[in-house]
Amino acid sequence: MTFVTRFAPSPTGLLHRGHAFSALTAWTAARAVGGRFLLRIEDTDFTRCRPEYETALIEDLAWLGLDWDGPVVRQSERRAAYDAALDRLREMGVLYRCFRTRKELMALAGGAPHADDLTDAGAFTCGPLPAAEEAALIADGKPFAWRLSLAAASDRLGGFERLTWVEETADPGVKTARPEALGDMVVGRKDIGAGYVIASVVDDAAQGVTHVIRGEDLIQTTSMQRVLQALLDLPTPVYRHHRLLLGQDGKRYAKRDGSVTLMALREAGVTARELRAELGV
Ligand code: GLU
Repeated sequence: MTFVTRFAPSPTGLLHRGHAFSALTAWTAARAVGGRFLLRIEDTDFTRCRPEYETALIEDLAWLGLDWDGPVVRQSERRAAYDAALDRLREMGVLYRCFRTRKELMALAGGAPHADDLTDAGAFTCGPLPAAEEAALIADGKPFAWRLSLAAASDRLGGFERLTWVEETADPGVKTARPEALGDMVVGRKDIGAGYVIASVVDDAAQGVTHVIRGEDLIQTTSMQRVLQALLDLPTPVYRHHRLLLGQDGKRYAKRDGSVTLMALREAGVTARELRAELGV
C-alpha cells in the first residue's frame, strides 16, 4: 500500500516555525518511503479564513523546499461531501440541535474559555431540547448548531471500547477512543455547515491518507474523529502526533505571535536551509 500523508493547514493566519516543523515532518516521512505528500487547505470556516493567508502559506512551503503531489485541495470546494456526511449523521439520529450562543455556553462553563479553534465551544453537552420547545425556537428562526450526541453514538456503536487506532509517534501503541472529554462536539454550524472534524475524516478517507502526521495538540480530537469514522464507515489511518515546538518563553508557537512567522523569517534573510537545521528536520 502506498504511504499517503498530508499537511492540512487552516489559512487563518501566517505559518510559524511549528507549522514548518509539521509540514517538514510529514513531507520527509512521505519522501523517505517513496510515498505521497498532499497539501489540503482546511478553509471550511470562511468566517476566519482569508485568501491572502493561503497565498502566503503556499509561498512559505515552496520556500521551505517542499513539493506536493496532485493539486492543492481546498475544503471550501468540497462542502457538498461534508454536508452529505452531516445529513447521514442526522438521519442516524446521533445529532441534535443546540440553540445556545457561545456567550451562553461560556457563562454556563463559569467563564472558562474551553473553546479552542477546532472544537468551537464544543466541550459542552447541552442535550436535545424537548420537541415542543425546539419547534418553537425553529419557528422563531433562532440559529442553532448541530452537536454529536456521544450517548446516541455510543448506543449505535455498542460503546467506544472497540474504536482503536495505531499511534506511532507520541506514546506509541494501540489507542482507544475516549471522546468524553470533548463533550457533545459541534459538528455542523448554521453559517458554515459541516465543520473541521467531519471535513477532515471525510477528506482523509477520500484522499486515501494512510498516515495522519500532525501536532500532538490534536490527540484528543483523534478520539472524536475515530467515532465519526466508525459512524460513517470510513477507514482509520495510522496517526503520528509529533511534539510541539516551544518558543523562548516555553509556550507553544501560536499564529497570533507574529514575530516568528515564516514570512518574517524569510524577510529577515533566514534561509530555508538554516531553518531546517534549527528544526532538525
Ligand atoms: N487544519 C488543522 C490545523 O491547522 C490541522 C488538522 C489536521 O492535521 O488534521 O490545525
